[in-house]
Amino acid sequence: MPTKSKSAKSKKSSSKSPKYVYSFGNGKADGNGKLKSLLGGKGANLAEMTRIRLPVPPGFTISTEVCTYYYDHKRTYPPALEKQIDEAIHKLETAMGKKFGDQKDPLLVAVRSGARDSMPGMMDTILNLGLNDRTVRALAERSKNERFAYDCYRRFLQMYGDVVMGVQKRAGEDHEPFEVVIEELKKELFPKDPHVSDTKLDATALRKLTDRFRKLIRERTGQDFPEDPREQLRGAVGAVFGSWNNERAIIYRRKYNIPHEWGTAVNVQGMVFGNTGNDSGSGVSFTRDPATGEKVLYGEFLLNAQGEDVVAGVRTPEPVLQLQVEMPEVYRQLQDVRHTLESHFHDMQDFEFTVEHGRLFMLQTRNGKRTGFAAVRIAVEMVKEKLIKPDDAIRRIPADSLSQLLAPVFDSRARKTTQVIAKGLPAGPGAASGKIYFSANEAEAAAQRGEKVLLVRVETSPEDIRGMLAAEGILTARGGVSSHAALVARQMGKVCVCGASELQIDYSTNTLHVRGQNFRKGDFLSIDGTTGEIFPGEVKTSPSDIVRVLIDKDLTPAESPIYRVFAQLMQWADQRRTMEVRANADQPDQVGHAVAFGAQGVGLCRTEHMFFEGDRIDHVREMILAENADERGKALSKLLPAQRSDFAGIFKALKGLPATIRFLDPPLHEFIPHDEASQKDLAEKLGISVDRVSRRVKELHEFNPMLGHRGCRLGIVYPEISEMQARAVFEAAAEVQASGIKVRPEIMIPLVGFPKELELQIALVHKVAAQVQKEKNTKLSYLVGTMIEIPRACVVADQIARSAQFFSFGTNDLTQTTLGMSRDDAGSFLPRYQEEEIVRQNPFAVLDQGGVGKLMETAVKLGRSTRKDIKLGICGEHGGEPDSVKFCHQLGLAYVSCSPFRLPIARLAAAQAALKN
Ligand code: ADP
Ligand code: MG
Ligand code: MG
Repeated sequence: MPTKSKSAKSKKSSSKSPKYVYSFGNGKADGNGKLKSLLGGKGANLAEMTRIRLPVPPGFTISTEVCTYYYDHKRTYPPALEKQIDEAIHKLETAMGKKFGDQKDPLLVAVRSGARDSMPGMMDTILNLGLNDRTVRALAERSKNERFAYDCYRRFLQMYGDVVMGVQKRAGEDHEPFEVVIEELKKELFPKDPHVSDTKLDATALRKLTDRFRKLIRERTGQDFPEDPREQLRGAVGAVFGSWNNERAIIYRRKYNIPHEWGTAVNVQGMVFGNTGNDSGSGVSFTRDPATGEKVLYGEFLLNAQGEDVVAGVRTPEPVLQLQVEMPEVYRQLQDVRHTLESHFHDMQDFEFTVEHGRLFMLQTRNGKRTGFAAVRIAVEMVKEKLIKPDDAIRRIPADSLSQLLAPVFDSRARKTTQVIAKGLPAGPGAASGKIYFSANEAEAAAQRGEKVLLVRVETSPEDIRGMLAAEGILTARGGVSSHAALVARQMGKVCVCGASELQIDYSTNTLHVRGQNFRKGDFLSIDGTTGEIFPGEVKTSPSDIVRVLIDKDLTPAESPIYRVFAQLMQWADQRRTMEVRANADQPDQVGHAVAFGAQGVGLCRTEHMFFEGDRIDHVREMILAENADERGKALSKLLPAQRSDFAGIFKALKGLPATIRFLDPPLHEFIPHDEASQKDLAEKLGISVDRVSRRVKELHEFNPMLGHRGCRLGIVYPEISEMQARAVFEAAAEVQASGIKVRPEIMIPLVGFPKELELQIALVHKVAAQVQKEKNTKLSYLVGTMIEIPRACVVADQIARSAQFFSFGTNDLTQTTLGMSRDDAGSFLPRYQEEEIVRQNPFAVLDQGGVGKLMETAVKLGRSTRKDIKLGICGEHGGEPDSVKFCHQLGLAYVSCSPFRLPIARLAAAQAALKN
């Protein structure tokens, strides 16, 4: 009796308070890997790793529901929480065999943030909690290692002081206050070598440091550092919840569209120690290379260190492969772990571990962030290894990341003629040139001025995220391939070279010194994130492998492994997608490229783009300056052969695939010169007076050209123009058809809002078609339809569909007209709109599904109501944007059309959409 048992259950749970705390340890866990929204990614996978018997130190997770409660209730906790935490601590004490605050063998814990999606470095973690002036002595005695105990204590004071008590850089200060104290002490102790590594500080020095840290905390906050471990824990938990709403976390969530409502979990976990000597250490590894996708254990390790040191890039760690020599047993275990993780999670893992006296502990695992290259290679190879199915491979690769595979690389000849000035670690593949800037703010400002920018830093920290976003590439002097810079760059798809230790960066003078050369702020540098090389100046780029195989044809698939995995992925995607893809292409060579990239036709040929070639523009101008229809006719007849030969070229390149040809769309004044000198030239060329030219220019002036005399309004006022274009299309069609190639023109009338507009233009097209067919004594098959780009067209789509054989959504203009927002002017306020979350994304890049999308839905429904089999497509920029492509699939469009270089993205996104159902 399901109803009864259900009510019984709900009664039971309502009498008990909800579960907020989930324990894990010794092979058992309350939670599991599926509970990411409740336990956060880190907590859920700690539970999962515990269940599969990987060596995870015990602990417990305070759920994200507590975070939500905390923000909903003026930063207070649910009443039931305290008791649950007490119970969990008790369990943890039993599991670790130590007691919190104990004077002989104190339990120390890590308090770790953990959101549903990982947000690298955005939130705070506190290690070694539970130490105070007394427990530190106990730790020293128990471990017989005083240095270690005080190293833990000083780290704890530093993290706690920063994160919980707010002892941070003040405005105008260049360095973290705790770092300043460390530097001062080093200067006192090592006057000759003040930059010695932290490992050179002995127990006495570290003890001194802890005294100074406590003093610093008191001076800065007016409060004493809390001795009581319980109070420390309360403070730390509150700080982790608080860090959910720090500025950098908010910026990060905005960039990656992570909802602010999700909240973070808090993990409290028994400490294991990587800083007990040279048989200990801490590392970060990937089960495969996250930059290239190669199947090797990849990562880095620091001897005698606690974990934050690796990620923070303070010391440059050694490659994890080095452990083969230094700790062969640990290395062997790591290889096992790598295997276990991949066969359990079926994906490349990014994991953190610590070795304490030769014993391995797992501290975290998650699906690793990777470059586009690695994403494709890993997915395809995992299918071959039978770890996943082709469908998984398709689902898993962010469609947008394919753009990295198509992006240019440095030209091999150009790179040979340039001296490599230094080398770093290749952390984010690709080629980038730009002016160097040494601070994130300046990089951001320069990018806003339109400069190409490279951000150059000693190391990056989460505060630099805006500057990293703005830069073409990121170059750091310190930190390894799992440093913050590398991690974030890979995720953003930015080119990155890190740990180029020869670079001497001086922030105070804004200079970079390397091997006797100096580079100043604003100088050009080039970096190759695939090889790690750094070049002076701007290095020429050349096409990627994919482009060379498909378009330039100077590379064969056999020579390019990355092409082969790409082609395999595309094949799987094409087998699954139900929507066709077309390209926006205006010229025969572009059409050829588009077909090579998988286009199944042209979805938008903008005829006016042909007007600018050679002397055609003169004929166009002559046509515009004409005083009457007769004169206009004469000018148009000169344009006709040019248009005809272009169309013929397009039809030939398409080899039977359809081509949607849009009639003239932009306002005429876009074609005529506006400055006096060029007007004079033009007058001379055409043998007319300058006055006449400038008068006509004035006549054509419009206050708001976007809403002015353009689109079908041109063809209605000047039918001769449409007639010429129709004739060019049909004569070209007849010619190419006669040569044995099938031709499928689809003539598209732009900017229709009233059914009558379309009817008039269609009548004209049919008239010309009939003439040409008679003249050439042939039969042509063609369609006539319209671009849907005005809200009125959407709401009267049933009437328009009576004459339109197809609709193609012109979502660039449809967005402009629906939002009443000019794409070219929106830049001045859209960023603010995004900050205020009025819009989540730029509606000109990502389709506004709630508004523009609703109109499209209406148009689809109404259009089909009068013409059941109406052909539907989209040809705006959105046709190559993954989320918009998926939306089009849901609407039931027959195809999406986008620029040739975005076709692989559209193909993959369409396959992903098809798999969803
Ligand atoms: P983030 O989310 O920034 O990676 P983590 O919570 O993973 O922060 O903590 C950062 C580092 O602190 C870890 O990589 C690990 O090396 C160290 N750490 C975390 N928990 C423990 C623990 N229980 N024992 C020892 N070190 C830990
Ligand atoms: Mg951290
Ligand atoms: Mg971590």
